[in-house]
Parts: sequence; structure tokens; C-alpha cells
Amino acid sequence: MTESSTDSRAARPARTVFITGSTRGIGRAIALRLAEDGYSLVIHGRAPSEHSASLLAELARMGVEARALYFDVTDRARAAEVIAADLEAHGAYWGVVLNAGINRDGPLAGMSEADWDDVLSTDLGGFYNVLKPLILPMARKRAGRIIVMSSVSGLTGTRGQTNYAAAKAGLIGAAKSLAAELASRGITVNVIAPGLIDTEMVTDENRDRILPYIPMRRLGRPSEVAGLAAFLLSDEAGYITRAVIPVSGGII
Ligand code: NDP
Repeated sequence: MTESSTDSRAARPARTVFITGSTRGIGRAIALRLAEDGYSLVIHGRAPSEHSASLLAELARMGVEARALYFDVTDRARAAEVIAADLEAHGAYWGVVLNAGINRDGPLAGMSEADWDDVLSTDLGGFYNVLKPLILPMARKRAGRIIVMSSVSGLTGTRGQTNYAAAKAGLIGAAKSLAAELASRGITVNVIAPGLIDTEMVTDENRDRILPYIPMRRLGRPSEVAGLAAFLLSDEAGYITRAVIPVSGGII
């Protein structure tokens, strides 16, 4: 008798996915989408907050196994410590969604050192600080998925986003390199490049300025990014790696 895919999924323990920056916005939508797909979840934010508490409560209502990690992704030592303790207690992750990020927009001529440094150390520095401590345990299992959240800005550049575009372009280079390093271990590494997605990150000014350039003439929904993340984490996406996939309403 052949086993259906549903049966085989039910037969194995739930796979665990760690999603950075999942207290709000796109990361939260990914957590809720993956909850529907039956994953165990490790959610994450800078510190416990109303947002993290409400997400944990929602996941509990859905009957999903979930826990939270809290650390600032720019704090290398703390990230390594928290992740190592979680791996020690629970074992390697099946999937990681590197999603935490910030923007501090403005023309370069007037950009403060802090706005440059904070964006680079969060959006790009987080790649090393979060992934380095968890790569080897994943590689030993010879299976898994990594998704990196870049941006259309990292592909095209955007006026007022030299810091953000630099970090997001850097993530694409880092992710493609890591994909090549991990392919033989059965781990895929892919990049999602969202356009303008309706979250707290988008200011009214940005919305009004960019909307005319979006062929679909609307912002994306966080759930529309989450759908792609869910697919990239699935078994069906096992031969997709080193890809950069826009979710941008046609901007690129
Ligand atoms: P939000 O501002 O809504 O959420 C950002 C998340 O990242 C929060 O959970 C926040 O946690 C976390 N975070 C930010 N900085 C840190 C840090 N230093 N340490 C730990 N956690 C941190 O953003 P979005 O959901 O809109 O964006 C998610 C990702 O998608 C980002 O990487 C962003 O660059 C990217 N993206 C977004 C686009 C958009 O239009 N919205 C377009 C293209 C890409 P906390 O609640 O603790 O602050």
C-alpha cells in the first residue's frame, strides 16, 4: 500500500522552523502560515512584548508547539548564547527564516553614522550572528531550509535607501554563497525579495511615493510573502536553491 504525503507527514515529528523578527509584520504572517502547515515554531523578537505574547497565545489556540527566543540580532555574543542553549535543549532546526530587519531611510548626504551602522549591523550583520551558531547542527542532519529576507531595494537600489539597499544586496551575495556551501548537505538557501508590503515598516510617505511604480498598483500583503516562504520550506521545493524570488507586484 502506498503512503499518502499526509500520512507520511503525520508519521514524523513536526519539523521546527526558527523565524527571526516574527513578533510583527511579515515574520508574524510567516509564523501563522507555518502553524497551519503543522510546523513547530521558534518565534523571535528583541525582547518579550505585547506582540510576542499575543502571537504565542494565538499559536497556543491553534494547538501549535511554539517557543520564543529573545535577543538583538546585532548582539553577536548574546545571539550565539541563546541559540546554542535552544539547540542544546531541542536539537537542530529544520528551517530558518532570517527575517528580522530595519530601515532608516534618507539621502546619503544627510545620513547619520548611526543610521548607516544600525541598518548594516541589523540587516546584514544578523546573517552572520544568527546563522553561524546554527549551521553546523543543521548540516549534520543533512537536510533543511534557509530563507533570507532581502528586498527589491537590494536588487535595484532605491533613492533614500543606500544603507538598506547595501545591506539587502549584501544578503543576496551571502545567501548565494551559503547555498553553494550547503547544497551537498541537502540544505537549500533561498532569498525572498519583497517589494512594498503593508507592515509598520512602510511609512505613508514611502507608500505614496512608490505606489505609482508598482504595476499592480497596490501594496503586498504579509500573507503573500508568507505563502512563498511556506512553499520554499516544503519538500516540493527541495530542488530550488540559490534563487532570489521577488514578491513585488511586478516592480521587478
Ligand atoms: P516590521 O518592522 O513590521 O517587523 C520587524 C521585525 O524584526 C520585528 O519582529 C522586530 O522585532 C524585528 N527586529 C528588528 N530589528 C531587530 C533586532 N535588532 N533584533 C531582533 N529583532 C529585530 O518589518 P516587516 O515585517 O515589514 O519586515 C520584515 C523583513 O522584510 C525585514 O527584513 C524587511 O527589511 C523585509 N522587507 C520588508 C518590506 C516591506 O515593505 N514591509 C519590503 C522588503 C523587505 P521587535 O518587535 O522586537 O522590534
